[in-house]
Amino acid sequence: MVNLKKAKKRLVFLVNEIEKHNHNYYVLNKPVITDFEYDILIQELEQIEKLFPELKGSDSPTQKVGSDLTAEFEKMTHKYPMMSLSNTYSLEELNAFFSRVEPLLEEKPQYVCELKYDGASISLGYKNGRLDYALTRGDGVVGDNVINNVKTIKEIPHFVGDDVPANFIIRGEIMLQKDIFNSLNNLRAERGEALFANPRNAAAGTLKTLDAKVVSERGLTCFLYYLLSDEVICENHFDNLVLAREWGFNVPPYIKLCNTHEEVYQFIAQWDKERENLPFETDGVVVKINSLKHQRQAGYTAKSPRWAIAYKFSAQQARTKLLSIDYQVGRTGAITPVANLDPVLLAGTTVKRASLHNADQILLHDIRVGDIVLVEKGGEIIPKIVGVDKSQRVENSPAYKFISQCPECGTNLIRPEGEAAHYCPNEEACPPQIVGKLVHFTSRKAMDIEGMGDETVETLFQKGIIRNVADIYDISFDKIIKIDRMAEKSANNLVVAIEKSKQIPFSRVLFALGIRYVGETVARKLVEAFHSIDNLIKADKERLLQVGEIGDRIADSVIDYFSNPKHMLIIERLKAAGLKFDTESNAIQFNSDKLAGKSIVISGVFSVSRDEIKNLIEINGGKNLTAVSAKTSYLLAGANPGPEKVAKAEKSGVTIIDEVQFRAMLEN
Ligand SMILES: [Zn+2]
Repeated sequence: MVNLKKAKKRLVFLVNEIEKHNHNYYVLNKPVITDFEYDILIQELEQIEKLFPELKGSDSPTQKVGSDLTAEFEKMTHKYPMMSLSNTYSLEELNAFFSRVEPLLEEKPQYVCELKYDGASISLGYKNGRLDYALTRGDGVVGDNVINNVKTIKEIPHFVGDDVPANFIIRGEIMLQKDIFNSLNNLRAERGEALFANPRNAAAGTLKTLDAKVVSERGLTCFLYYLLSDEVICENHFDNLVLAREWGFNVPPYIKLCNTHEEVYQFIAQWDKERENLPFETDGVVVKINSLKHQRQAGYTAKSPRWAIAYKFSAQQARTKLLSIDYQVGRTGAITPVANLDPVLLAGTTVKRASLHNADQILLHDIRVGDIVLVEKGGEIIPKIVGVDKSQRVENSPAYKFISQCPECGTNLIRPEGEAAHYCPNEEACPPQIVGKLVHFTSRKAMDIEGMGDETVETLFQKGIIRNVADIYDISFDKIIKIDRMAEKSANNLVVAIEKSKQIPFSRVLFALGIRYVGETVARKLVEAFHSIDNLIKADKERLLQVGEIGDRIADSVIDYFSNPKHMLIIERLKAAGLKFDTESNAIQFNSDKLAGKSIVISGVFSVSRDEIKNLIEINGGKNLTAVSAKTSYLLAGANPGPEKVAKAEKSGVTIIDEVQFRAMLEN
């Protein structure tokens, strides 16, 4: 027989799981489990509640319907003001802090050392064990409630059981890991969007996004490090953190309880060295007095607590001379300026080159050749120039002028409206663009043709064997064995690898084509929605815009790509070579006008994805709408449809049909 304690533990787990799935489903429209799996969780919860009625909460998921309401951010007053810490930048300043605070206390204090995270601060309020609100710092007194976004972060529990104070607040930092930050910026660069300056900006910007779906896809993480409640929890900060970890919060492991100043110095020295190896950015160490009684004795200034201080690591900066600026031409024709530097040691490596991003960046800092510049190593792999020492500038040095012609082919550069980058428009004949497209096509994330890296592609291009991606599938052993240094074995392997790439699924083929702004994620979305290249080619802008995450810029780019006869010719040749241009899903393709003149709103979960249903409506002549009105022909309701849509349909006299009826309409 299950005992009460075990049952309770399982119940807490189930409630937490179900609420997350509700959120995935209702708010994000992105369920990660099937209805069946979801029902099993609900059934198990019902069983436990039946066996132990005393455990059943009035707001149990078995007692209420999910809600898909999302609102603009609501302003809320922080229960305890969210103060900022004073900073110190040297051990002398840190010692001054010790000598300032210790005379205020009854006895010699213990200190807790923690890393200082470079993210966006957040204050999470829990009520009866349930996440109730999530406030940004705001102005320290009032914050934005970003709870819908915060709920998508997997480290943040929605429910932690009821063996906790009825009301408590836990604070922490929402961050992006370095690698996620880098790939996010690469994706943005690919789409021609402005880059995030650092992981902190990216995290804070993401947190204020109005679309929780975007937030969930960004891969935010959260560290929690400060527990607050009117009820006494533990006597000291360190024990509070240990407790919070037991409750299921992601309390970082980089914490040390220190009895002496020496131990504080050691912690700082250790992490100043090892922070390079952490997966996230840290810019210092926070030193807090451990005992809450001591904290009260020390008190607050108007702005910050007197019992804590932030020690900031010295920035990883170096000064050196800017020798010249080179330009790289990417596969999309985007021009990237790169600084050549007098070699300088920075964070353990010699730096010779630094990114300048784009013309705006050069203008912003008024960077000139010959300047002494400040180079910094931040979240990015390539160091960047963050400033100029203008006191060292040679008199009358000319302001830098960005090039106006392509360094590779001499074509006049263009700068599309609203974009930071300059482009070489000579897509067909600019060599680095052709080679770049070929390299992108064969790369691991695209067609994954082993043995066809940068050098081989370059050689095959120089020899005139490949001029575009379709030529790759005309490569034969005889054609390439004549190339210098190509051994028989490598030639053979290459032919085999090319043949193997024909099995690569459609979404990766689409990504491999290198349509501007169509990265891996966008390619997957398009394939989910359209299934085949023929459907995608036929799609007009309106239809493209109905796909999640597809905005004007991507839609225009897709249409533009397929309206070019040269691209269509390449696709025909790739099709003939046997590449996959459709998905092998069980999607039914009807293609009729059975729904002509009908406008349909869909809601709920179906046997196939919502995009597939929308596609079915579209290819049978119907029109997808997002909101129910009196003019709507049908509300197509799957499992768990949005209650508001159903109510609206009933009120407006709109016929509600289910998936079976819908499919019958098409087969009829
Ligand atoms: Zn060019």
